[in-house]
Amino acid sequence: MKTVMKYFVPFLLLVTMILFTFNISSFAHGSKYCNGGSETMGWKVYCSNYTDGHAGTSSITYKYSTDLEDKYKNYSQTAAGRWNMTGVVDISYSSSSPNIIKQYNDPNTSSVASVYTSSTNNNHKEVWTMYYNEYHMNNYEFTERNGIATHEMGHTIGLVDLENYMNIDKIMFGSDGVQVKYPQFEDIEGAKEAVK
Ligand SMILES: [Zn+2]
Repeated sequence: MKTVMKYFVPFLLLVTMILFTFNISSFAHGSKYCNGGSETMGWKVYCSNYTDGHAGTSSITYKYSTDLEDKYKNYSQTAAGRWNMTGVVDISYSSSSPNIIKQYNDPNTSSVASVYTSSTNNNHKEVWTMYYNEYHMNNYEFTERNGIATHEMGHTIGLVDLENYMNIDKIMFGSDGVQVKYPQFEDIEGAKEAVK
């Protein structure tokens, strides 16, 4: 009995310490924690409400504005498919989705396509709208349009534009043509963080 007690107390202490350590680490990796990434890492995530937020879920839906042309529906479907192939997200059409894909025609902006987040909750996107600017989209080849749509779909997940030219080989590179048409390894790593 004496011997048992002698080892029991240190054992209890050890168990308590292990539980405490696990609690700390599970807290650190819980929903409140978000790794924003960096240009060096090759991916960046909108961690907070103030910067658009991230999906916070692997399940993302979208619907179309009533006047959206079929070609834009097709680019969007292709884009969703390219992200779904990564196994990290499931982006699908839903007529009840709060997220809408629209088109417009404006020569007075340099924006080719964009995603605007109008509502976030707890750093997660609640409502976003994707816009294709017909005026500029028309200047790109078919394969490039699909690449642009895939880039924009990356924004709906919560990925940020990359600006450093060392990241020109990533789908989330934000300018200078469309060198890449599919999510790359680093884009996928970022998406893994953005769905948390
Ligand atoms: Zn972008």
